[in-house]
Amino acid sequence: MQDRKTLDDRAKMTDLERLRHSAAHVMATAILRLWPDAQFAAGPPVENGFYYDVDLKHRISPEDFPKIEEEMKKEIKANHPFEKIVVTREQALKDSESGRLGGLSERPGNPSKFKIGNLEAIPEGEQITYYKNGDFLDLCAGPHVMRTGNIGAFKLTTVASAYYKGDERNPQLQRIYGTAFKNKTEMDAYFTMLEEAKKRDHRKIGAEMGLFAIDTEYVGPGLALWLPKGTAIVEELEKLAKETEFAAGYVRVKTPHIAREKMYITSGHIPLYQESMFPPLELKEKAADANGKENVDRYYLKAMNCPHHHRIFAAEPRSYRDLPLRLAEYGCCYRYEQSGELFGLMRVRALNMNDAHIYCTAEQFADEFNAVNEMYLKYFKIFGLDKYQMRFSTHDPARLGQKFVNEPELWIKTENMVRDVLQKSGINYVEVPNEAAFYGPKIDVQVWSAIGREFTIATNQVDFAVPKQFGLVYRDRDNSEKTPLCIHRAPLGTHERFIGFLIEHYAGNFPLWLAPEQVRVMTIGDDEKLVSYAKQIINELRANFVRTESDFSSDKINGKIQEAERAKVHTMLVIGGRDMDAGNISVRIHGKGNLGAKPKGDVVAEILAAIKNRSA
Ligand SMILES: [Zn+2]
Ligand SMILES: [Zn+2]
Repeated sequence: MQDRKTLDDRAKMTDLERLRHSAAHVMATAILRLWPDAQFAAGPPVENGFYYDVDLKHRISPEDFPKIEEEMKKEIKANHPFEKIVVTREQALKDSESGRLGGLSERPGNPSKFKIGNLEAIPEGEQITYYKNGDFLDLCAGPHVMRTGNIGAFKLTTVASAYYKGDERNPQLQRIYGTAFKNKTEMDAYFTMLEEAKKRDHRKIGAEMGLFAIDTEYVGPGLALWLPKGTAIVEELEKLAKETEFAAGYVRVKTPHIAREKMYITSGHIPLYQESMFPPLELKEKAADANGKENVDRYYLKAMNCPHHHRIFAAEPRSYRDLPLRLAEYGCCYRYEQSGELFGLMRVRALNMNDAHIYCTAEQFADEFNAVNEMYLKYFKIFGLDKYQMRFSTHDPARLGQKFVNEPELWIKTENMVRDVLQKSGINYVEVPNEAAFYGPKIDVQVWSAIGREFTIATNQVDFAVPKQFGLVYRDRDNSEKTPLCIHRAPLGTHERFIGFLIEHYAGNFPLWLAPEQVRVMTIGDDEKLVSYAKQIINELRANFVRTESDFSSDKINGKIQEAERAKVHTMLVIGGRDMDAGNISVRIHGKGNLGAKPKGDVVAEILAAIKNRSA
């Protein structure tokens, strides 16, 4: 069953969503001009566009789109106002029965059956409204743009099928999708971006470059295998995280992939998240208990690393002097995602998370939280992400004890602390009510790839509830026992999702430090002396951990270069007899071309410096 949008949700609709929802009304108007008996159900704005569900004998196909779009243009050109009309429930019911709602006129014998259902879903006491553009009258709570002429550009995109109200016991409808923009320039930019995203699809580039494989038959769906070239990227990211976290005073820990049932009952996962976890492993311990009863132990694959880290906190007595304690781990978690939801590296069942938990006192919180945010910004700079936004999700006081732990004062206190840090740091953020984690306020970090596509890759959360459930305490200055606050943070998200994102962001053309094959040394010809000079260079680079391969074949050098460019090798070192005699190397950079010959020592030094600085 689909959730009905509340009036509150509707008031929050952005300008673009209003415009797209208005385009859905215009599309319905156009469809009715062509097929007057069409019956409409729901027509909301969605991510990147809108749809309207329609019941119609004629099967609409993309071949029908031009003529529907032609009718839509007429309605937009007529520039009809979107008129809001308040009605009584009786009137609305009468207009549904006469077929007037979701129609251009009354349609005797063809009542607006879905509108009757929609009407029933409107709570008693809530105002009932119509919106009218030209002849089209619809049951709708709005909001809309002022006039049909405000729709600057639109396009119908696809048609799918959907059940009325998302319930498969209901009739199947045709769902016509489209998109709309303020103007044609914005729409063109959107379709260009989609085209580019298709070319940069991480599954396609991942296969071409040999980064990862998903072996559904033997390993299982959603369980990515990192091939050697993908593993090179994984290890570079881990190295970056380890260096950054070490400098910021984190310590590293290692934890097993499974834990006993008690762990997840205490953490709240079993009561709240069990359906996202793999089913338990049942272990019959050999020794029976005193009553001769066999013990069965249940273990679960971990869905998050936090509970294990909490037990590390509990493993030793802690004093205020030990805080803040920052425990970091690239932990592998397992989540049961529906098989239909799995998607390349972006939605998987085993995920390696750049995780850490910071245990601190309330007084230390602002500094710690701020340092985490700064770490995010530092990473964004390294990856050349200049567009990002933090979404600060807070609780809803009306749902304390249901969706959110029942600690009204702690909620307000921690949310104020977070808000304060965000405001002082000047970070770009928006506040979203009612979307916090159950244990505290949460920040999701959205980033935009080089081609302008949005991804949510990382989270930063405050937890004032679970440490208490695990009985975590530290001894304070006054010798009293107190519960620490916990910050969960994962700036590089999971390897799977982050690398999926980076593949699109870089189109597979990784900067030198991340490139799976950083350097390829190629000889012009296969002369023995030349090959041995080239091998010397390779040895020197490998001794410095530069991922270096060779091509000493007798093929023409142009062919070798083409092959290396195709494989997206970052730096190509081309060596001919003249280079060797002068102690030089000719350098070529993927996508940038030939940089000419330089002394061997300079070339090696430049490569090492660029890797060390992680320069673009
Ligand atoms: Zn509407
Ligand atoms: Zn956590």
